[in-house]
Amino acid sequence: MAEIIPLTPGGASDPSEPFKESACKLHPQTMCPAFGALRVLARLEGAQPAMITDTGCLYGLTFVTHFYAARKSIVAPALGTAELSSGKVQEAATAAIAEAASEPNVSVIPVISLCVAETAGLAEELLPSSIDGKPVVLVRVPAYAIHSHPEAKDIALAAVLRRFVDRERAHEPGALVLVGEVFPADPLIIDGVLRKMGGRVLTTLPGRHVDELRLAGCGAAVAALHPFYRETVGVLRERGVGVVAGAPIGADGSAAWLRAVGTALELDEAVVEQVAAEEEAAARGFLASQPLKGATIMVSGYEGNEMLYARLLVEGGAHVPYVSTSIGQSMLTAADEAWLKAHGTEAVVYRKAIEDDKAAMARWRFDLVIGTTTLAAYAKELGIPSVYYTNILSVRPLFLAGGMIASLSFVRELMNRRPLYERMVAFFADADPGGTP
Ligand code: SF4
Repeated sequence: MAEIIPLTPGGASDPSEPFKESACKLHPQTMCPAFGALRVLARLEGAQPAMITDTGCLYGLTFVTHFYAARKSIVAPALGTAELSSGKVQEAATAAIAEAASEPNVSVIPVISLCVAETAGLAEELLPSSIDGKPVVLVRVPAYAIHSHPEAKDIALAAVLRRFVDRERAHEPGALVLVGEVFPADPLIIDGVLRKMGGRVLTTLPGRHVDELRLAGCGAAVAALHPFYRETVGVLRERGVGVVAGAPIGADGSAAWLRAVGTALELDEAVVEQVAAEEEAAARGFLASQPLKGATIMVSGYEGNEMLYARLLVEGGAHVPYVSTSIGQSMLTAADEAWLKAHGTEAVVYRKAIEDDKAAMARWRFDLVIGTTTLAAYAKELGIPSVYYTNILSVRPLFLAGGMIASLSFVRELMNRRPLYERMVAFFADADPGGTP
């Protein structure tokens, strides 16, 4: 069980928001948020991003984009102090767009406008809407307006969706659009369950092809599996697509989500009820053993889907007193936050800073920390088992009974690593100042 340690003097002051006051919230403390937009757009087949910014941003963003496996270069103008001070941003943008259009096999040019171009006054109305018949789509993601990379993904996806979504074709009965960068097996598992109810998955966004964006407008409903796709959901709602909030997470969440999808898709109520009950029974069968009982776990990340994992851990028997995320609070986060707070979570921190996470570590004794790289390193120094949220947890199935069992089994395995970490701390504590054990 968690041991609550009083906050140290000088710590956060408002007891209802215990971690909010202590840290600066102006700076996102992550890689440049625009990375999220680049990730979505660079993966789109035929898209050649043109990034309007200076060379400093270009260097950093090219690095992280390639690090996360984009297989294309980014075209950008040479914008330095001289060009900026002489007011050449517009000309430079137009030249970069022309260069992007001349690349082989290009069918669309997303123009990514960042802090520098936005501050210098890039004018949307002076940009071409297409070049050589290839659509040009402006995506504005300066970090002073878009504070996290998940939210930049949303802005980018909404921009291309707005341009390409099919507004003419009829909605396809029973067809559900999924929104969220999820583990590849998850949409297949969801599709399998939906088909038992008489529905199906139409497509999963962000997709790899413009045709998937067109198709999304034909869905009867859209499910935002991750809670930060507000603009994207808004574009589809304008098109008349019904919206299902939340995700099929854990025993509680999966059954409720399947019923909500059944209603949105107007499926047979009795069949939906039977499938939802089967899913719930399968999940509860696994949860009966309470695989994480007695553990206190911290969840912190910048992916935007941290509350989903926290819910799973709680259903697995863990105490999760603290959850933090880089995204902002919204209607799409409300249900998960309310569920967590009704199940023992004392603090849900949006727009988190590392200072919030460290304050939480001073307040509770955690058996496992699932966090950012920086936080995981800090926890390891203290001998607490910890893993990097993005690379370790986000690469596993998560949804419905099957995803839940896979994720919780993995976390239970992590819990057994405590002796290893304690040995590591003891080893370094015993080391002499010269570094020889
Ligand atoms: S200046 Fe803005 S766009 Fe450039 S790297 Fe920094 S946050 Fe990103």
